[in-house]
Amino acid sequence: MQISLTETAAVLKSAQSIVITAHVNPDGDAIGSSLGLMHGLKALGKEVQVFIDDDIPAAFSVLPGYELIGKPTEGQSIAADLLVAVDVSLDRIGKVAEMVIAPVLNIDHHITNDNQADKLYLDGTAAATAEIIYQLLGELGVICDRDMGMCLYTGLATDTGWFRFSNTTPETMRTAADLLACGVVPNLISEALEQRPFAEVQNLASAMQKIELLAEGKVAGVCLDYAALQEHEAPEGLIGMVRVIEGVDVAFTLKEKEPNLCRVSLRSKGLDVTKIALQFGGGGHVRAAGCTIAKDCAAARIDLIKVILQVLEAEH
Ligand code: AMP
Ligand code: MN
Ligand code: MN
Repeated sequence: MQISLTETAAVLKSAQSIVITAHVNPDGDAIGSSLGLMHGLKALGKEVQVFIDDDIPAAFSVLPGYELIGKPTEGQSIAADLLVAVDVSLDRIGKVAEMVIAPVLNIDHHITNDNQADKLYLDGTAAATAEIIYQLLGELGVICDRDMGMCLYTGLATDTGWFRFSNTTPETMRTAADLLACGVVPNLISEALEQRPFAEVQNLASAMQKIELLAEGKVAGVCLDYAALQEHEAPEGLIGMVRVIEGVDVAFTLKEKEPNLCRVSLRSKGLDVTKIALQFGGGGHVRAAGCTIAKDCAAARIDLIKVILQVLEAEH
């Protein structure tokens, strides 16, 4: 059931023990929104735990509360008044779904949200879930401090490509300005998140050699099979390098993370890439979406390209 921001605040107020979670394969918004909300609710005297069913990249250790993020273990069970799932639909929270016995409040900005939670606050116009969490803290009467600000700024900055993407609105910029006024040091976050080991920068260069151009240069992508990923982990930022190629509308990366399991990222400058992701059971936003294809790299590549070309064709 969809609810308003005021109702969302009321649901949070009426709970005392709260578990927060976000999507597997967590990004800056998933982690930043979880921790930002955690700090805010703790300021209200709530007992709050954060669990994410995945490893949290070490770069995020710059965020206050990073070390408090737990990973569910097999058979673990937690009773709480409320489970809050941020930046996600319930099908992507992994083992947390079975581990926490509580009603679920879902807070999200993905237009593809499946509305399966007991209560859902969805704002598809928000650039990041962190933008919603900031409004929610205001609704709850929480005064934003530096710790909350650092986490929420990270969500906002990463989901907007450091305030460059089309989801960046005047509201996004006003929120960012408010967060800076709370004591956020923006370069501390960007330097921590942009830092790469030397070998990874070199990997990025070699992965970029594998970019292929399709559909007269309107589509570009790179596929890394399981063997390639065993040799070198997929470099961060690869999709961003594909996206900037002149004339490219749709950019993709396809990574065979486990044998016969490929993680796909999609970006566009115009086409609605949720139309592609949804065909594989994924989702996301108009210009940034993703999905998983349970096939080997070569077969998944063929399926993906076929759907991209179909969707591209249908739009013209
Ligand atoms: P990524 O390429 O992983 O950065 O994801 C781009 C956007 O699509 C993010 O907003 C993700 O949350 C969303 N997304 C990625 N994979 C999936 C999926 N399997 N199901 C739903 N949404 C996804
Ligand atoms: Mn996310
Ligand atoms: Mn997000």
